[in-house]
Amino acid sequence: MAGTKKGLAIGIDLGTTYSCVGVWQYDRVEIIVNDQGNRTTPSYVAFTEMGRLIGDGANNQVSMNPTNTIFDVKRLLGRHFSDPSVQSDIKLWPFKVTAGPGDKPMIVVRYKGQEKQFSAEEITSMVLSKMKEIAEAYLGSIVKNAVVTVPTYSNDSQRQATKDSGLIAGLNVIRIINEATAAALAYGLDKKASRSFERNVLIFDLGGGTLDVSLLTILDGVFEVKATAGDTHLGGEDFTNRMADSLAEKFMWMHIKHIRRDPRAIWRLRAACERAKRILSSTAETSIEIDSLFEGIDFNYKITRAWFEKLNMDLFMKCMEPVKKCLKDAKMDKSCVDDIVLVGGSTRIPKVQHLLQDFFNGKELCKSINPDEAVAYGAAVQAAILSGEKNERVKDLLLLDVTPLSLGYETAGSVMAVVIPRNTTIPARKEQVFCTETDNSPVVPIQVYEGEGTEIKYNNFLGQIDVSGFNHAPGGTWRINICFEIDHNGILNVTAKDIYTSRKKQVTMSSNKGRLSKEEIKRMAQKAKKYDAEDEEQKKKLKARNSLENYAYNMRNTINYDKIASTLPAEDKEKIEEVINQSIIWLDDNQLAEADEFEYKLKELESVCNPIIAKVYQDDAFDTGTYEDRMASSFAGLKIQQ
Ligand code: ADP
Ligand code: MG
Repeated sequence: MAGTKKGLAIGIDLGTTYSCVGVWQYDRVEIIVNDQGNRTTPSYVAFTEMGRLIGDGANNQVSMNPTNTIFDVKRLLGRHFSDPSVQSDIKLWPFKVTAGPGDKPMIVVRYKGQEKQFSAEEITSMVLSKMKEIAEAYLGSIVKNAVVTVPTYSNDSQRQATKDSGLIAGLNVIRIINEATAAALAYGLDKKASRSFERNVLIFDLGGGTLDVSLLTILDGVFEVKATAGDTHLGGEDFTNRMADSLAEKFMWMHIKHIRRDPRAIWRLRAACERAKRILSSTAETSIEIDSLFEGIDFNYKITRAWFEKLNMDLFMKCMEPVKKCLKDAKMDKSCVDDIVLVGGSTRIPKVQHLLQDFFNGKELCKSINPDEAVAYGAAVQAAILSGEKNERVKDLLLLDVTPLSLGYETAGSVMAVVIPRNTTIPARKEQVFCTETDNSPVVPIQVYEGEGTEIKYNNFLGQIDVSGFNHAPGGTWRINICFEIDHNGILNVTAKDIYTSRKKQVTMSSNKGRLSKEEIKRMAQKAKKYDAEDEEQKKKLKARNSLENYAYNMRNTINYDKIASTLPAEDKEKIEEVINQSIIWLDDNQLAEADEFEYKLKELESVCNPIIAKVYQDDAFDTGTYEDRMASSFAGLKIQQ
């Protein structure tokens, strides 16, 4: 339970490009910094010959290792390989994705000299376990429970896949909540401190890969989502890709060189565009300068904010469509919106702000919450509520979320019969009687879909219940009671019940739609533990190698430049020099040795050097202080540099 460290639950904003973790402690949310001192962590995983890197470490080496550095993987979660959006993403990624069993996208990497394949859930679990590790380092205890956010527009299988990723990472995902709802929670909490009020709040969250728009009303601590809309394929990455694409084209025309064939060059160009894009949010002009971009040719190009805006104008305009849809669904006029809250890194783009402000007839936009942290903040608040936090700022808050897509089943003529309409508050339970003429077949399949199309061909197929062994009603018809139930996480369960016999059949949707089985999750969780152990081993190895390296080089400095250098007998100096040289040569030849080999070599080196140095100090009658002091001061440098 909250309040006792053991039961602390964390809130994780699992972003497409950046993730962030927060925890409720000492009556407030703490956004936790990672090992690099950053409050957000890139959702990047890299595989190298030596080991695995997650977060900043992975992001920092992309240009050297583009084909084995995985990012944007959230775009693959809960999707099929043949999905058009997956196909268009793959074209832009430097890493390889292939079709696995059941059309599941599998990411192909080279890891420690071998080709390996990972599912999107496994890569996501690595990011989640990094966030868990960041929290554990800060809290000084094991973290088991977490609230994880998903884009509001996520469908059933994307939510399931996020939960599964948590399981693989050894995290108990106590609740999946929508990113926009989490941001609203952060915002509402912020406001609640100052006054009690009822407000209609529009959350506009434009991140790296997704746009989420949600309309909520907040009254006395109750957050009710009125409507949500969004675009799962629109965000800052698209703006950066447009820039990189356009500049690659320019490079090709200027030099008649096929730069696109070189993934490393394309990645360097993209990274420069990403930097330039951020700069253009605060200045009108910047330049891109990349030395030896492709075949030794430098690339220098001046870009302006006007060029950037023109290049992406259609995408910026597209960002306004979900705003209109959301207002329409909520049957609310734009004049009724009290606050327009900006969330997500891409809302820093001035043109996006202008378009939004113009749409709302010049109304001031709220920028009071840190756009990078609001989602994790809200997730941490929700985690505290679910853990029974008694603080009065959160204990009365209640989240009422809605389902983003209509849910129903196929009826005659391939028409969708909606059972739970879009924007119904969840958890929800609805029943309908399904009536069909029999053709004497023993099985009637009930096919479940999500989406807004009247014909099922426009919607997503979620799963099927085969109703069999039921009795025919008099007259030869089937009469089946169908019950749709959505839980707190937005995950759907469907039950079919024969009205005449009360026999039941129940299916959790998406289980037959590329979702991982329990056995697969278990196997992947074991694999994840193995990789964690390997990473730990690698860290140990690096530490042992650094200790040996530091000792050798520091000892070389000590005998040449330290104040004892003049009193050290020549033959002792030679002896030390010889063993140091041997160690350095050994280190060069054995970079991949095991930790205990480095430790053994260090002990060997110490056994020669330490007695000689100690003796010099003992003989040094003119020095002041005790022998121990002098030894300590002589070796202090060694420790500091380690
Ligand atoms: P996500 O939640 O999708 O991971 P974030 O909310 O963390 O995304 O936002 C990341 C996106 O914000 C990236 O595409 C990044 O380029 C963009 N971004 C961050 N800072 C700026 C800025 N100053 N100007 C423009 N875009 C920015
Ligand atoms: Mg985000």
